[in-house]
This record gives sequence, C-alpha cells and structure tokens, in this order.
Amino acid sequence: MVFFAALNRAAFYIAAFATALIVYVFAFLRHRLGKTQNSLFRALALDIMLSSAFIILRVYAEEYLRAPVSENKLAALGHFGYFITHTMLAPLFCYYMIAVVDDLHRENKIKNTLILIPFVISEVLVLGNPVTNWVYYYEAGQLQRNWGEMIIYVVGVFYFAVGIVTVLFNWNGMNKKRRSSLIFFQMITISGVLVQLFFSKIKIELLAEAIGLMGLMLSIENEDEWIEIGTFVYNRKALFADIERRLKKNANGYLLCVRRLSADSRYRGGAGANLIRSVANALKEVHPWYNIYRITPTAFMLHLRESDADIARGLAETVINRLEEGVTVGKEKIHVEASIIMAKYPEEIRSLVGLALMGDAVLPPADDGVRIYEGEKLGSVFRQAIVEDAIRRGLNEGTFEVYYQPVHKTGGLELYAAEALIRLHDTQMGDLYPDEFIPIAESTGLINEMGEFVVREVCRFLKSGTPDSLGMDHINVNLSVVQCIQNDFVQNLRTIVDEYGIDPGKINFEITESVAANDYKMLESVITDFKNSGFRFSMDDYGTGYSNMQSIFLLDFDVIKIDKSILWEAEKTEGGRIILENSIKMIRKTGKRILVEGVETDKHAKLLDELGVDYLQGYLFSKPVPEKDFVALYA
Ligand code: C2E
Ligand code: CA
Ligand code: CA
Repeated sequence: MVFFAALNRAAFYIAAFATALIVYVFAFLRHRLGKTQNSLFRALALDIMLSSAFIILRVYAEEYLRAPVSENKLAALGHFGYFITHTMLAPLFCYYMIAVVDDLHRENKIKNTLILIPFVISEVLVLGNPVTNWVYYYEAGQLQRNWGEMIIYVVGVFYFAVGIVTVLFNWNGMNKKRRSSLIFFQMITISGVLVQLFFSKIKIELLAEAIGLMGLMLSIENEDEWIEIGTFVYNRKALFADIERRLKKNANGYLLCVRRLSADSRYRGGAGANLIRSVANALKEVHPWYNIYRITPTAFMLHLRESDADIARGLAETVINRLEEGVTVGKEKIHVEASIIMAKYPEEIRSLVGLALMGDAVLPPADDGVRIYEGEKLGSVFRQAIVEDAIRRGLNEGTFEVYYQPVHKTGGLELYAAEALIRLHDTQMGDLYPDEFIPIAESTGLINEMGEFVVREVCRFLKSGTPDSLGMDHINVNLSVVQCIQNDFVQNLRTIVDEYGIDPGKINFEITESVAANDYKMLESVITDFKNSGFRFSMDDYGTGYSNMQSIFLLDFDVIKIDKSILWEAEKTEGGRIILENSIKMIRKTGKRILVEGVETDKHAKLLDELGVDYLQGYLFSKPVPEKDFVALYA
C-alpha cells in the first residue's frame, strides 16, 4: 500500500526519470564521443535522471518512514540532492545552446567562463544550505523557502535569457529546423516550469524538461541525415551547412581536402568501401571525427577551427604520414598515398563555390612531387575551374573575339591571307589567351560551341567583302582534333558556310597532327570529307613533336605550317638550322607549300626567303589584332 501511495505521488518524477534514461541510453549508443555538444546533451539527460532519482528518494523516504522531510534524514538528503542537481540544469542547457550554435570555442573563452559565475553562486548557496539555511529550512516540521531560492530562480531565468539571446544572435546561421526545434522545446520546458509554479500540486516540471530533451534528441541530436553511414563521419551536406554557418558568422579557419587516395599497388581491392572505411578511421586517429567530412566517394575534408597556417600544415603532414604508414584492411596493412588541398577561409574560400572546387577541381598530375597544395599552388588548382566558368560566361555574354594576324608571301609587302585567333575578354578575369583556355575548352567539350563561334565570325567577315577588297586569298581557322571527331562535323560546318553564302575555298582549316598513328584512318576520312566539301587544309605546328613525315605524305594537306620554335632554334644553333633546312627540303619534295610562323625580324624573313619558303607570318608584319585594326592596317 505504501509502495502504491508513494508511486502515486512520484508518478511524474518516475516518468521524468524513465524519459531521461531513454534519452541518455540513445545518446550513449550513438557513440559520438568527443564532440562538446553531444557531451553536454548526455550531461543534460544524466542531470534530469539524477534530479528525478533524488526526488523519488525523498517521496519514498517520506512514505516508508512516515515522516515529513523535516524529520527525515533520507528525505532531506533526497531534497538536498534534488536542489544540487536541478540548479545545474539551466546552465547546462544554456551551454548546450551555445554549443549547438557553434559558439563554444576558444575565442569565446572569457565570455563562456563569465557566464559560469551565476551558476557558481547558486551552487554555493545550495551546498552551503545545511549550514546557512539561506535557500530553505525546516520550521515546525514544515519546509520553508528562504531568499536564496529566489536567487536560484533568478539565475535560472538568467540562463534561460542567455540561451534565447544566443539563438537570436545566431538566427541566420541556423537552419529552420534547428531554430524551430530549439524554440519549441524551450517552450515545452518553460510551460512545465510555469504550470508547477502556479499549480504546485502538479509536479510536472521535471517531466516537461525530460520531454523537451527527448524532442532535442529527435531533432538536433539526431544527425543521421548528416552522417555517412559507412565511415561514420559527416557528409558533404553537413560540410556545406557548417561552412556556410561559419562564413556567415565571419569565423575563420582552415579546410584540408584529402584527395587522390591511391593504395599500394599490391592491394587488389581498389579504392573500395573497405579501404575508404580504414582511411576514415585513420583520419579519426589524427583529427576529431566531428571535424571530418566525406565529400565525394574518394575525398575527405578536414575542418580546423583555427587560422594558424603552421598548425594546418602540421595537420596536413600528419595526415599524409599517417596514411603512408598504412591503414588496416582486413588482415592487410595498406599504404595509401594522398594529396591535400589546404585553404584558409574566408580569405581563400569565400563562398560555397570555392568549397565545392576543393573537392571537385581537377588536380595537376601527381608526378611533380607536390603533395600539399596551398597558397600559390592553390591558385593553379582553382584556375582550371575558374577558367572553365569564364569560357561559359564568354559564350553566354559574347565576350569572345576573333583577332586576325596577317600572312604575307615571302618577299611581298602586300597581304596574302590571315589567321583567325580567338581571344576572351572576360568581364571578371580580364583578357585570357588561347594557350590557357583551349585545352580546358577541349577537355570540357566547350570547344565545339567556341569553334562554331569562330567559324561564324570568319564567315561574317568574309561576307562583308572586306577581305576580298584587301586582296586576301583566304582566312586560316584553327581546328582542334576534339572538334574533328564529332559526328557530322564537316556537314555542320558546310551548313554554316552555306548559310552565309561563302565559298568554302575561302576558308583554310589548320589542324595540329597530334593523333596517334592508328587514328590516321579517322583523320584521313575527315580530311577527305573536308576536301570534298571544298574547304582547304594546312598542317599546323610542324616540328613540335606531334607531326611526322609519314602524315605529310599520307594526308592531303595544301600547306605545311612550320612552328615558330623551329625558326627560333635555327637562328640560335647550327643544329637547329640544319633541322629547318632539311624540313623545308623534305616538304618541298612532297610538292606542298610551306608557311613559317613567328617571323619577328628582317633577319628571319631573309633566311626564310633564301630557304625557299612560300609564306610568312609573324610580329614582323603584325601581332594578331581585332578585325577593325586589321582592316585599318591594310586599307
Ligand atoms: P598557333 O596555331 O600556333 O598560332 C600561332 C600563335 O603564335 C598565336 O598565338 C600567335 O599570336 C603567335 N605568334 C604568331 N607570330 C608570332 C611571333 O612573331 N612571335 C610570337 N612570340 N608569337 C607569334 P595565340 O594567338 O596565343 O594562339 C595560341 C594557340 O591557340 C594557337 O597556336 C592555336 O593552336 C590555338 N588557337 C587560337 N585560336 C584558336 C581557335 O579559334 N580554335 C582552336 N582550336 N585553337 C585556337
Ligand atoms: Ca594555327
Ligand atoms: Ca604554332
């Protein structure tokens, strides 16, 4: 009977205890140790459990010993224990909120310590109570409240206010879910406290707190959607959310992207799930799990909430060495090589775009021995992606422009032809040159749209009649092999030319013979198609290592263009001169005409004249210039 009478009185407390216990066990089973937010959360659950246990002790002691708390040592102990633990709840919750909004770090040490002072005061009051009676005392068998209890209430209100202010200050840095769950569960707790304050018979405060905690567990502490199941680190989505928050708060730090993981050649498993899991575990040994993110199947990001370059570099080296030392997969020890892109935010990573680039940008080949890309080297990693953006912008905004460089007959002063050379006047990066953007346009497929733009521009120029009136025989247009292997490529070009009503013979395509020997058949058929469509053809960059004599014989070129490097070498060394002379002699024998580019001086021109070259191109006559300037040169 006594048992049930006590149970009746303690029902709310027992429910609170059970709820807090469930929360605690769940939080514990998650095994997310080490992160302050999670530790504070477990502490909150533990605190509610203890408070409930103490108060249950008081109720049972009163019922079993049939004595009120004033004359009952055990009940008094329960009451005392309840006070000690319950005064901890508000400050714990406040710190938890600060941790949730990610403000619990070193820079805020002073602020976060100052916040502790009211807690210390209230705890001293409670602990001193057996001697001082400042919080409560027993009089005539009745429990009496004293002024100390008021202070404890005020302290509770203070922590509640700090918690609210923290949430409000970080309003923008939090997603909707976090905001609403924090506010909602705080409200539940507050209503519990208020109900008990006004209806002291309804002992619902602790239960409301425990329920609030369970709500937080289901929303904030439940990070399943942010966690990578296989590796138990955060995922890409979590990284973007976290860094976005940091950038909004003007916080700074370092990001280390671990890329290009390559396992020992003995290891036959490839970069499979097992290897990645072992790499993740090795990373957790050198950096806390909650600052590790897996952002692509084979790349991890480590977050360092510190802007010290030496510490960041030290971590990068530690990671590389740790992986090199070997990770354990099954019974095997696998040595893993990795490269790290290391960047500082907000200086080097200003937005989420930069963040994405760290994981996705194409890295330079690994054989240059560089393992850590930082500072200037970071530039080259990002450059490719930035240039790719510029190419897309150029195509959309029409900031590509075709320049023209004149070609003269040897010994002649008048214009013979011109080469169309593309330029990009980017609105953000300024002028870009084809040596940089053509390879990127080729690797991304943007070369096709860009190439069509050049052909259209050249057609428009030819259509204007100006080239004819300047006495030009044709215009040279560069083609990349990537373009040539497109289906219906020649047909499309023919369609464009017909659209403008241009004689295809006015266009001479230049192509660098860079395809491997077994692609001859392909190139041969493309060239035959071109020829059948009435276009003309040159072999570009002769002598640069791609071209060989075989292709000169096999492929139906009209003109062979000797690269400027051959000319410049001939001027410098005897050997270079022999190569130039013999190349010219050999090409002559095939009956093809010869153009040499890079003619910068009268000396060059004279030498080439003596060797019997047909056409000359170079700065001696003019650099490539915009259409208007080109026309003005010869008008
Ligand atoms: P390329 O076909 O070998 O073009 C000749 C390059 O040599 C041009 O560089 C030109 O400005 C430069 N040049 C000509 N004469 C002289 C000289 O006397 N001295 C010096 N120092 N340089 C001279 P540019 O315009 O920077 O073009 C670089 C390369 O980009 C071209 O090499 C070509 O392969 C490619 N390219 C340019 N425009 C196009 C295009 O529309 N489509 C494609 N697929 N490639 C293009
Ligand atoms: Ca060319
Ligand atoms: Ca060249």
